[in-house]
Amino acid sequence: MTSSLGLWQRAALDVLFPPACVACGALGREPFCPPCASSVESPSPGSIPSLPAVDWSAALWAYGGAVAVAIARLKYRDGVEVARPLGRALQTEVRGFKLDCLVPMPLNEARLRARGYNQARELARDWATPVARAALRRRDDRPNQVGQTMIERQANLCGAFTAERRYVEGRRILLIDDVVTTGATAQAAASALKSANARWVGLLVVATTCLRDPRIDIVV
Ligand SMILES: [Zn+2]
Repeated sequence: MTSSLGLWQRAALDVLFPPACVACGALGREPFCPPCASSVESPSPGSIPSLPAVDWSAALWAYGGAVAVAIARLKYRDGVEVARPLGRALQTEVRGFKLDCLVPMPLNEARLRARGYNQARELARDWATPVARAALRRRDDRPNQVGQTMIERQANLCGAFTAERRYVEGRRILLIDDVVTTGATAQAAASALKSANARWVGLLVVATTCLRDPRIDIVV
């Protein structure tokens, strides 16, 4: 809840998590130190696939360079430490938006157990907008999507999410995720939210891999 935290809370967080580069960890500047920032690229226009169930979408950066390093840290090593500055960067993208709740992209249970945390949930911490934790569920019997094409992913993900109408109906919802690749996962999630009568669904991600090989090995 960066915008509404008291000064002492902000100061305490700065002690626990001093400003640091999300890629190399150098103290002093976030989200990237100057050397790492030199490899960071903005997403090109239209770099998130057009998704029928998504009303608005944005990515902070193109996947690659220091951004890829930061994503790897977020997923595999330093999730909580890296998620806070990345979450703050995400918040700047939707400043002024009227949002009722955030929905972090759910992990399936097996992956959640293996990783110990959901990186999308970590990105959604400390926002003024509440997180609707029970709004969206992911079935856990789907095979891993790594290496699949968009069409294969869409078929795999059909019915993969269920939304809880009482947390969703009539609401303006922002889906949060770390990476969008083909957009099949986001489309399936947003479609479930719309089926439960969400009024508006936005998608905000840290990075997009669009313009790269969609078979790139990113574990979602
Ligand atoms: Zn750095």
